[in-house]
Amino acid sequence: MSKPIVATASLAGCFGCHMSILDIDERILPLIDLVEFNKSPIDDIKEFTKTCDIGIIEGGCCNSENVHVLKEFRKHCKILISLGECAIMGGLPALRNGIPIGECLKEAYLEGPTVKNNVHKILPNDSELPMLLDRVYPCHEIVKIDYFLPGCPPRADLIWDALVALITGKEMKLPYEVIKFD
Ligand code: SF4
Repeated sequence: MSKPIVATASLAGCFGCHMSILDIDERILPLIDLVEFNKSPIDDIKEFTKTCDIGIIEGGCCNSENVHVLKEFRKHCKILISLGECAIMGGLPALRNGIPIGECLKEAYLEGPTVKNNVHKILPNDSELPMLLDRVYPCHEIVKIDYFLPGCPPRADLIWDALVALITGKEMKLPYEVIKFD
C-alpha cells in the first residue's frame, strides 16, 4: 500500500518549527515508515513531484515568494496545516505590522545601528528579489487552512500526535497539557 505523502515549507519563520518536527527523536524512524516526504527542507526536494496528502507550513507571508509557495502548497496538498504561531498569527515577523514599510526598510538598510558601509544609501532593488508585503499575513488570510497546531514552536508530541491521527484517520486531540504555555 502506498504511504501518505507529506510536504513541508518554511515561509517567514525561523525554522524552529521544523526543528520541533525533528524533535520527535527516535520516532523519526516510524515516521519514515509511515509517510513519504515530497517537497520539503527535510529531504531537500525543491519542487512538488506528486500530489501530497498533508502539507505543513511554518511561518506566515511577508513577501511575494511566501505567497507563491503557500498557494502552491494549497494546490498540491489535500490537507494544509499551519504549524506554529508565525503561520497562525504572523508571530515575531509580524512585529513590523503597523510600522510603514518605508520606515522598516530605512531602519534595516540605511539608519539602523547595524548598518555599515551603505555609503550610497541603496535599498535592495534587484528585480529578482521577492516584493515585501505591506504587512506579515497569517497563512489562513491567504489560503484555506485545515488545521492549526499552536506553539512557538509547537511541541514535538503535538506534531507527532497530529500527524499520526491524520494518517490513521483517528480523531485529532489537542489536550491542554500539549498546547499550554503558562
Ligand atoms: S512559531 Fe516560533 S519556532 Fe516556529 S517559526 Fe515562528 S518563531 Fe520560529
